[in-house]
Amino acid sequence: MNSVTSTEAEFAARGEGLHRSYRRGGSDVPVLRGVTVEFRPGTFTAVMGPSGSGKTTLLHCLAGMDRPDRGQVWWGPTAVHGLPERRLARLRRAHIGFVFQAFNLMPGMTAAQNVELPGRMAGRRPDRAAVRDALARVGLAGRERQRPAQLSGGQQQRVAIARALVTRPRVLFADEPTGALDRTTGTQILRLLRDGVDHDGGTCVMVTHDPAAAAYADRVLLLTDGRLVDELHHPTARQVAEALAHASGPIDGGDGTGGGAR
Ligand code: ADP
Ligand code: MG
Repeated sequence: MNSVTSTEAEFAARGEGLHRSYRRGGSDVPVLRGVTVEFRPGTFTAVMGPSGSGKTTLLHCLAGMDRPDRGQVWWGPTAVHGLPERRLARLRRAHIGFVFQAFNLMPGMTAAQNVELPGRMAGRRPDRAAVRDALARVGLAGRERQRPAQLSGGQQQRVAIARALVTRPRVLFADEPTGALDRTTGTQILRLLRDGVDHDGGTCVMVTHDPAAAAYADRVLLLTDGRLVDELHHPTARQVAEALAHASGPIDGGDGTGGGAR
């Protein structure tokens, strides 16, 4: 099991001093105010915080889908901040998986075609066996030819996870992956993410606002107003809920109302 050598990076991903602002009404509104965070290989981290606290922005910056104004992002030993767009996109396809709350599948494509898509975009020929294997790993063997509309929400999210995992990414980022699912289906998705870390050695970073979901993680990070304010290790759902209530007390400065989830 221990295949990690000393030449491999200590962290699957790392962000250092991340700042990000958005322009609104003629002024810069800070969303990330200096976030430093590290993810060890084979760990499952949950990111929590009030709506508008910068969770999605942080995930997008770490996943190379958005660029911080200041600060550094590393995937393993590779510095990705400041890379030109095409190199960043190529590295992202090789190293990063991303799962969205709203699944983001292509409606006109079958499950298998959706899973093949990242490889195609990288200019590779579809690896049928890898696609079948990825769908089987998420419990969708035999559903290869079905389209999203023929699948339940939970099944669609599993296709999205298969699509994110088929390239065997260094890190799987998931932004409220159970937010659109009922609790039973959501639990299946959380087990799948947990198994991917425990049995396949993956690294997972998940945004959630559900303390019960966060309790599946090894570590919970609390973000408030663009800053990390707390970190819990192997917490229970109740401990997460308490920390969250504490962290979302009065928010100093800024626009605490946020713009809702995106
Ligand atoms: P969270 O995921 O914690 O709810 P977000 O990272 O989505 O928070 O957003 C944090 C703040 O940044 C919100 O106030 C939101 O309106 C703002 N924001 C996010 N993305 C953009 C954008 N592309 N342009 C302008 N403002 C944005
Ligand atoms: Mg969000």
